[in-house]
Amino acid sequence: MNNFTFQNPVKVLFGKGQIAQIREQLPANSKILLTYGGGSIFKNGVYQQVKEATNGFNILEFGGIEANPKFETLMKAVAICKDEQIDYLLAVGGGSVLDGTKFIAAAVCFEGADPWDILAKQAEVKAALPIGAVLTLPATGSEMNGNSVVSRIETQEKLAFGSPMVMPQFSVLDPEVIFSLPDRQVANGVVDAFVHVMEQYLTYPVNAPLQDRMAEGILHTLIEEGPKVLANRNDYDAAANFMWSATMALNGLIAVGVPQDWATHLIGHELTAYHGIDHARTLAIVLPGMMDLKRENKEAKLLQYGERIWGINQGTTNERIDAAIAKTVEFFESVGIKTKLPDYDVPSETIGKIAERFEQRGYKVGEHGDIGPKEVSEILESRL
Ligand code: NAP
Ligand code: FE
Repeated sequence: MNNFTFQNPVKVLFGKGQIAQIREQLPANSKILLTYGGGSIFKNGVYQQVKEATNGFNILEFGGIEANPKFETLMKAVAICKDEQIDYLLAVGGGSVLDGTKFIAAAVCFEGADPWDILAKQAEVKAALPIGAVLTLPATGSEMNGNSVVSRIETQEKLAFGSPMVMPQFSVLDPEVIFSLPDRQVANGVVDAFVHVMEQYLTYPVNAPLQDRMAEGILHTLIEEGPKVLANRNDYDAAANFMWSATMALNGLIAVGVPQDWATHLIGHELTAYHGIDHARTLAIVLPGMMDLKRENKEAKLLQYGERIWGINQGTTNERIDAAIAKTVEFFESVGIKTKLPDYDVPSETIGKIAERFEQRGYKVGEHGDIGPKEVSEILESRL
C-alpha cells in the first residue's frame, strides 16, 4: 500500500427530516447566500424545508446555477457576495450547485487578478468562504469532497480544481430528495458514482485488499440498489443505500494508499465541453474504450473486477477481459445510458479537437501518466 494522509472534516447529517438540522449548523449572525439551480427545489419541497429551518437568519438567494455550472453565471454570484458582504454559502442542489458554490467560495477570497486562474492555472486556493450543503442528487460525491468542475461558455472549456478549503462544513443527505428525481438523473447518478469507484479501483494493484473490497462493495451496492431506485422512486431504503454509496464513492476513503486514474473523467469533460452531454453519459462512452486500450496495464484488476463483480472466471485472459467490458456496457445500457459516440450525435471531428486540446495542454493522464493525445484518439475512435 502507498503512503497517505487522510482528513475529511465534512459533517454528514444523513436521513429523513435532517434538513431541519441546518438551523444548528449555520453560524448565528452570519450573512448567508443560499445558492440553487434551475428550480427543482421549489417543486419537491426542499426549498420550503430549508426556509423553515433557516427562519430568522439573514439570507439572500442566488438561483440559476446550471447543470455543468458556468463560470459566467458564478461570477455574478461572486459580485453579489462582495457587494453584500456575504460570509457563508448554503448550497442547495445537485453536484452542479455544490461545485458552483465551491468555485464562488474560492473566487470571492481569491487575491489574484482573474479567478479563472483557479481552474486554468490551478492557482492556489488560500482561503474560501465557508460552505454548508443540502444535497438533492446523489452522484458526484461533491457533498463530501473538495472538488469542483466549472465550464466556460466563451471558450467551450470544462475544468476542475480541488482544495480542502472548499470542503463543505456540513452536508445534509436526506434520501427523500430522490423521490422527485427523473429517471435520467437517477441513471446519471448511478453511473457517475460507479465510474468514480472505477477511477480509484481499476488501476494496478498495490496490495490494498481493504480498499479493493470497499470499492467492490460500493460497485455491488450500486448494481443492486440503482435498479431498485429506478423501478420504485418511493423505496426509501434503496434511495438511502444509493445515496450513501455515491458519497462513499468519492469522499477520499477508497482513494487512500492506491493509484488513481481519472483519465475517463478528463476525456469525458471534453465531450461535455464540446457537446453538452450529461457528465455521467460521457463517462459511459469513454470507460469501455479505456478498459479495452489499457487491458495490459490494468490486467490484474480487470480480471479481479470481472470475477468479483460479475462472476467471470472462465476463458483466456483476453476473453475474461472482453466479458468484463461487455458486462460493464450492459449495466450502463440497462439503466438507460447509451455508450457510443453516435448515440449522442458526436461527429468524428470532435475526436481530433479533443486530442489537440490534450496536446496543447500537455496532458499525460491515467495512473501511469501515459494517456496523451494519441491514446485519447484511440479510445474515442473505438467508441464510434
Ligand atoms: P446536476 O447537474 O447538479 O443536476 C442535474 C439536473 O437534476 C438539474 O436539472 C437539476 O435541476 C436536477 N435535480 C437535482 N436534484 C433534483 C431533485 N431532487 N429532483 C428533481 N430534479 C433534480 O447533476 P449532478 O450529476 O449532481 O452534477 C453534475 C456536475 O457535477 C457536472 O458538472 C460534473 O462534471 C460534476 N462532477 C463533480 C464531481 C465532484 O467531485 N465535485 C464529480 C463528478 C462530477 P435544478 O437545476 O432545477 O435543481
Ligand atoms: Fe464524475
